[in-house]
Amino acid sequence: MVQFKNVFTGQETRNYNRATTSQKSLRAGGKHNDLENVGYTARHHTFFEMLGNFSFGDYFKEEAIYHAWNLLIKEFAIAKEKLYVTVYYTDEEAASYWKKIANLSDSRIIRINNNDNFWSMGDTGPCGPCSEVFYDHGDKIPGGLPGTKEQDGDRFIEIWNMVFMQFEQLDANTRIELPKKSIDTGMGLERISAVLQNIHDNYETDLFKEIIAHTENIVKVKAEGNAKFSYRVIADHLRASAFLISDGIMPSNEGRGYVLRRIMRRSIRHANLLGSTEPLMYKLLPKLVDLMGSAYPELKRTEDFISNILEQEELRFKVTLERGLKLLDEEVANLNDLVLPGEVAFKLYDTYGFPIDLTEDILKSKQISINLEAFNNKMQEQRERARRSWIGSNESKTDQIWFDIREGFGNTEFLGYSLNELEGKIVALVKNNMLVDTIDQVQEQFILISNQTPFYGESGGQMGDIGSIKTVNCQIKVINTLKYLDGIIAHICILEKGTGIKVGDEANFSIDVKYRNNLKIHHTSTHILHAILRELFGKHVNQKGSLVAHDRLRFDISHANSLTPEQIILIEDKVNQIIQTNSKVTTTLMSPEEAIKLGAMALFGEKYDVEVRVVSIGPYSLELCGGTHVTRTGDIGVFKIIGESAIAAGVRRIEAICGEFVLKYLRNNDSIVENLTSSLKTSKNEITQKVNDLIISKKNLLEQLASLQVSMLDLEEEQIAKESLDISGIKFVYKVVQNIDNKILRLSAEQIVNKCDNLVMVYINIGKPDEGKSSKLSITVGVSKKLSSTAHAGHLAKSISIFLGGTGGGGQANIAQAGAADSSKISHLPDMIKNLLSKLL
Ligand code: ATP
Ligand code: MG
Repeated sequence: MVQFKNVFTGQETRNYNRATTSQKSLRAGGKHNDLENVGYTARHHTFFEMLGNFSFGDYFKEEAIYHAWNLLIKEFAIAKEKLYVTVYYTDEEAASYWKKIANLSDSRIIRINNNDNFWSMGDTGPCGPCSEVFYDHGDKIPGGLPGTKEQDGDRFIEIWNMVFMQFEQLDANTRIELPKKSIDTGMGLERISAVLQNIHDNYETDLFKEIIAHTENIVKVKAEGNAKFSYRVIADHLRASAFLISDGIMPSNEGRGYVLRRIMRRSIRHANLLGSTEPLMYKLLPKLVDLMGSAYPELKRTEDFISNILEQEELRFKVTLERGLKLLDEEVANLNDLVLPGEVAFKLYDTYGFPIDLTEDILKSKQISINLEAFNNKMQEQRERARRSWIGSNESKTDQIWFDIREGFGNTEFLGYSLNELEGKIVALVKNNMLVDTIDQVQEQFILISNQTPFYGESGGQMGDIGSIKTVNCQIKVINTLKYLDGIIAHICILEKGTGIKVGDEANFSIDVKYRNNLKIHHTSTHILHAILRELFGKHVNQKGSLVAHDRLRFDISHANSLTPEQIILIEDKVNQIIQTNSKVTTTLMSPEEAIKLGAMALFGEKYDVEVRVVSIGPYSLELCGGTHVTRTGDIGVFKIIGESAIAAGVRRIEAICGEFVLKYLRNNDSIVENLTSSLKTSKNEITQKVNDLIISKKNLLEQLASLQVSMLDLEEEQIAKESLDISGIKFVYKVVQNIDNKILRLSAEQIVNKCDNLVMVYINIGKPDEGKSSKLSITVGVSKKLSSTAHAGHLAKSISIFLGGTGGGGQANIAQAGAADSSKISHLPDMIKNLLSKLL
């Protein structure tokens, strides 16, 4: 058990020398990987609960065996004939205790000569022989005793493993005896539950049975035959996914996130096998929370979040799953042997998002294997391509180089909570995505990693610091600071002066304190804002996103309605009241459990380590947060909201500023007002009235202008007689005008045709398109009321528009307007209209 490693070797002491544990375990990657067994054996899970007892230099072999036997036989009342034990082949001591304490015959104490019975943490470290307890589920189940060929069957199941920690491996050739011999044991809760519930199969124990029955109800396929495997996979993977997500792990393509994604995608494929077309996993979650939520409150607390992640991942993968399966089917049909080419597996991985073990799982039933060497070569090629194309943006944060750096140099120690300046050592330099030993050119941009730093790397919404770094011969400007893999702090640098920055150099790191202080005031006020929003609108107000910059803050919340101006003022007032109390802001390190007990607002995506950082602001706010904060709320000065908007359904964004930026904002507003008062020649107090007066007088002027234009266009009866053509008794007036408002032309045409009984009036207006239309010509047709039943203005306008390359138009019988675009035919228009009119009569 890794957390006790240094206790076993004696490097660390605790104030206890015995312990018992119940621990969440995951075996889906790394040294222990049971993923491919899950669904197919009765005893393997990816996620399971491990019970253990430990001694640190206290009791050893004899007492450990005594306690184990006592628990199994006396407390659990398991029949002795059902049990077998193993010991490491040289460990006569353990064998003799089994004989003495349990009175087991030699045939029940099996000596194992391989690593199964010698436990070690790695190449070096504490280690020792093991002794395992096996339970015989009876001869109806295939399988043999440990050490036989059939040992992997499910008849004899290992329920408990005891490690006798008696050595320490110092290097490949040196193994010493530990001064204090210790005990480390592990018993799977699910396996012992099966035994105690008189069932052979873990998946038929109470916790699993209910999940499977619930799934059956939703999917409506019986859990029999091949479907049974799928049900088991789904139940197991649901548990693993939910527990991982509740621990802050998100599905991704790297590291732990990829372990999670592989598990999720495997279960999604099995849901698909059962014929489920809709996302399924998230529908099963309430049942799991119901069953396990009281023992693991983190599941309850994060239920909505887990549900959302499960659904999103399933929706995302469904898009490519079926297409990938089709491709795989076709490839399998064309195989000449039982080996799938690595290139196909890579394509499925790369294009369709199939983790390699998913492809293996699909092929398993057909006894087809994958050419893994070819697959791995393809993966390697891809990694190299990615390396070459890396551009150093924050988006490539999971790029391989950061894993390399972490492996080589470990995480950066952040000391910037208490220091603005410190001496550190340069451990790595990165240029164009490559590790380099020196940086020589002035103005060159590069990334510098040190063993420790006061610079805050962008994370948790807070932007990174800026500042400067000095070595003996160089002056470096830090223009931003990022954080990679949750622990490497990357200074984005430009070499200003000097030459020859080398890995290994000592340097002085100093942040821009003013910039940092501005980040702090915006961060602390974000917490206050959050608390006030929850106070005013209730607990449903959840943080959906947050940005803390040096000159502003942005806070997104789940809230259905927009905020009214009154609400905004109320929020501002309340935040400023807290600022004015000048309350103390304190940060404390504590366990996540303590923090949550105190009522800290826990955020997801945040990883909860053994210790979390809790930021409290007087009695007003308590949040888990890794960011930097002011020491007293008064430091913030003043808080002002400058924007409120919707960014998605049910999500509102509030933008605000603090401190000197409020002053800048006010000054800017002042100068706008000053410019206005001086141009309008008025005072601040009268400016509103002045602007309203201007609006009204503009409206009046426009009205006057319109009537003036109409009267200018007007024709008296004698003018009509003079300017009109006579077409079989109809008078026709035709005018081409330029840049006149079409409303005016309409009024004018109406006014003129009203003076006669038999007049058709046509205006062609050039160069003033109606708003939003592309036509450059506008046509206005007026027809005297009496005439309009014969010559319909709308029809005429339409014909004219089409003649001039327009799309037609229409209107009433006596007045109509339309648009057109082609002015080249205007000269032919009078003839065309004459023709048209003479045909109508
Ligand atoms: P097996 O050979 O059956 O896979 P193991 O040798 O891997 O078991 P250990 O590493 O000794 O098991 O783990 C200690 C105990 O944890 C086991 O005795 C068993 O009760 C439980 N355990 C181990 N792996 C799993 C698993 N994948 N699912 C459920 N329980 C497990
Ligand atoms: Mg195992």
